[in-house]
Amino acid sequence: MNYPAHSFLKLIKISHHSFATLYQNKNTGEKSLHSAVSLKSDSIFGTFEATDILTTPNKYTLQVNENTHIILSPDVLQYVNHSCNPNIFFDTTTFELIAIRDIAKGDEFTFFYPATEWNMESPFSCFCGENHCLHRIQGASFLSPETMTRYRFTDFISQKLNISHLQIV
Ligand SMILES: [Zn+2]
Repeated sequence: MNYPAHSFLKLIKISHHSFATLYQNKNTGEKSLHSAVSLKSDSIFGTFEATDILTTPNKYTLQVNENTHIILSPDVLQYVNHSCNPNIFFDTTTFELIAIRDIAKGDEFTFFYPATEWNMESPFSCFCGENHCLHRIQGASFLSPETMTRYRFTDFISQKLNISHLQIV
């Protein structure tokens, strides 16, 4: 097991899914989704779809287009937490889940929320503790050009970033 054992002591197993296990931290009540398998960087390990389509974002939606925000299925994916050094990516063109780093069995799945979100409905302060933590997570439209170079974005967000960058220049 590669995950620090002391971290697991606080975690209660909630449910198991094909490639993931959902845990809840008994101190904070926060849920987190952890890999049930080990994955190589760049591997496609699952797919997702929409159970509902909304025209405005909320805390649980993933943006796939200008006015298209989906509720995820499998619904356990809503518990993938944000990190400024993420290990998975939601490709909203192919609807594939992609590992963007090597992931060990037991590692928490994390995702860079601005990779799919242009303007977030619920911005929040990030305490992920990673080297390049952005501290304030509000959506891709708030990222500096330097920050943009560090992340993989969906086709929709990449297009928006290129357009807004051209406007700045
Ligand atoms: Zn962070």
